[in-house]
Amino acid sequence: MADAPLLEVNDLSLDYGRGKSLFRALDHVSLEIHRGECLGLVGESGSGKSTLGKAILGLAQSVGGEIVFDGREIQRLPPPMRRRLAKDLQVIFQDPYGSLSPAMTIGRILAEPLRVGGMRYEQAKTAVGEMLERVSLPREWIDRYPSEFSGGQRQRIAIARALIRQPRLIVCDEPVSALDVTTQSTIIDLLIELQRETGVAYLFISHDLAVVRRICHRVAVLFKGQIVEQGGGEKMTTNPDHPYSKRLLMASPVADPTEQARRREAWLQVRTGQA
Ligand code: ADP
Ligand code: MG
Repeated sequence: MADAPLLEVNDLSLDYGRGKSLFRALDHVSLEIHRGECLGLVGESGSGKSTLGKAILGLAQSVGGEIVFDGREIQRLPPPMRRRLAKDLQVIFQDPYGSLSPAMTIGRILAEPLRVGGMRYEQAKTAVGEMLERVSLPREWIDRYPSEFSGGQRQRIAIARALIRQPRLIVCDEPVSALDVTTQSTIIDLLIELQRETGVAYLFISHDLAVVRRICHRVAVLFKGQIVEQGGGEKMTTNPDHPYSKRLLMASPVADPTEQARRREAWLQVRTGQA
């Protein structure tokens, strides 16, 4: 079963609230992610992207469907097995400052998951130093606090923390959305490089198709809790089929004016029913 998907989401539905306030956030969502692959999940704000990320991480309970990670249906796993699985599933958020404890040095922040995993102090310290270098931060910064770093550097720390126990899948929820364009670019390069080195898979959540184009092998488009289109990264970020995907593409900034004009033309054709 070497080529079975690492993650399979089958027909997943998820509700918030109940009774009159019942709201279907995910509606029969199916997708898969293979080992070492980056799947982009795009959609406008409120389409359910983070909810799907949370469900995969075991932080939101579905009302139907299944999530199969490495051959196991994770929603039905007994808690001890789930905890073991937690090592393989990590997350990076948009705002690393919110998820990095301000009272802990980055050395402690990075060592903690290793210590929880049973690693001895000296060994953990060495691993932390190596990890800092892999995300291009100087080892000497190990005793600094999150507040002493820039947004991009904090995101490097968050990436280091996600990677330090060698997970197999990282849910990246808008990991560069809070960064300026230049920093976005260096963080994307780092994620690509780390994926190449480690073979980790990413679910890369973004509302920005320009960002997704650089890193994703395949892209799924979420609209009001439903996947409306899935396809190869190149096609989905240049010439998708579904009107909603085309609209998202139009909304994403491009540096090239010719490309911008071409997209506008394509979009106008959709609107006037010529496509
Ligand atoms: P996205 O990440 O695509 O912006 P979310 O998954 O955060 O979207 O949210 C999808 C929808 O579910 C939104 O309409 C949001 O308001 C709603 N929602 C998210 N979390 C909750 C919650 N805990 N309780 C009720 N509604 C929620
Ligand atoms: Mg979100």
